[in-house]
Amino acid sequence: MDYAFLLEWGKNHILTVVAVVITLVLIYHYVIERDKAVKLSKKYRHSIFEAQSRIFLNATQYLIEGNKDLAIKEFLNAVDLNRETIDTYFALGGLFRSNGEIEKAISIHRSLIARESISESTRLLALKELALDFDKGGFIDKAIETYKDVLKINRDQQDVINSLCRIYEDIEDWDQAYNYRIMLSKVGQENQSETISHILVQKAKSLFEQGQFKACAEELEDAFRFAPSVSAKILRLKLFLVQGKMEDANGVLLELLKEHPMYATFIFVSLDAFNPKLSQKDEYTQRLQQLKDYFLGLNDIDLMSSPSVVLSKIRLLKALKRTGDAFELLDGWMKSHGHSDVLKVEYIKILIEVGKVEEALQHTKGLLDNLHSSLTRHYCSQCGYNSDEIFWRCPQCHNWETIQFRWKV
Ligand SMILES: [Zn+2]
Repeated sequence: MDYAFLLEWGKNHILTVVAVVITLVLIYHYVIERDKAVKLSKKYRHSIFEAQSRIFLNATQYLIEGNKDLAIKEFLNAVDLNRETIDTYFALGGLFRSNGEIEKAISIHRSLIARESISESTRLLALKELALDFDKGGFIDKAIETYKDVLKINRDQQDVINSLCRIYEDIEDWDQAYNYRIMLSKVGQENQSETISHILVQKAKSLFEQGQFKACAEELEDAFRFAPSVSAKILRLKLFLVQGKMEDANGVLLELLKEHPMYATFIFVSLDAFNPKLSQKDEYTQRLQQLKDYFLGLNDIDLMSSPSVVLSKIRLLKALKRTGDAFELLDGWMKSHGHSDVLKVEYIKILIEVGKVEEALQHTKGLLDNLHSSLTRHYCSQCGYNSDEIFWRCPQCHNWETIQFRWKV
């Protein structure tokens, strides 16, 4: 018999292998405890062990025959015997869940919960496991309900509250997401203000998209009470544009750029995206252009040392067909700073546009020599998730504000 065959067999009979291991563990316990001075009569202990062994051997037999239902039944029969079998129960349920056999995991945990003879802490644990089954199986409503049942028994369950936060954020139920974040902030050590602010901004955003600007402004004020997050400021900027408060809009833009110059290109991309009621679109576009003009007029030395700010200006100038101004700005910047790949690409494009082909070729060669190839504009600092979209909450690891900007060529 060669090893490859053994491995293949092991993969196909993972439950069998586990059952055999569990049996061996029980035998080990039996052997160890046999020598200890335990009050339980030897005969009684022996009969427990015999019963357990029989059950596990039967279960193992069923597993080998591929009859998992009967195997589970055998395992379930063992539960009344002692504490260790309850652990076995949990182990088996978890195993089924991680194996993707959700229904079996659910039936195991349900029958545990229904037992009269178990302690309340065991019941709570089983309920939590059941919630995890529903969650993993994608039965969102049932998962929510069961997680809430767990909290009814014991409110101090940080991991459960965390799961509810994740689910409500996933389905974008921002009211509930808010409630459970607040709850989490009371139970956990971690400060949740930033995240709560983001959630309130999400609520405000959907109001903005429905054209309910007044309600949006109120929600946004709440967001600022928790934390002045970048997304809150960008939405406030959009609101000012809608309301025609140009002085305020300029002020927020300047504040944003001074605090987070690397967000400059992103800020203008999000300002360009305006989808509420079409009736206000023209007004909005006009005011946005005023804001862009104000930005182009800014000549702050600190701001102008940021590649993102310079790139934003270049893009705006090009959109206005002011290629000459764009060239002048970039030419000056490249001579004094000149170490940003993305600006170099922009520079080469402009050199071609203004007819300086020789210089363009030279710079192209320099660029190719040390070009880092990158595929996406953004990535998550926590899990490395890549995306061209802006994400305030990482779709992969669900952390908030872990987005990092990467220069895209
Ligand atoms: Zn992530």
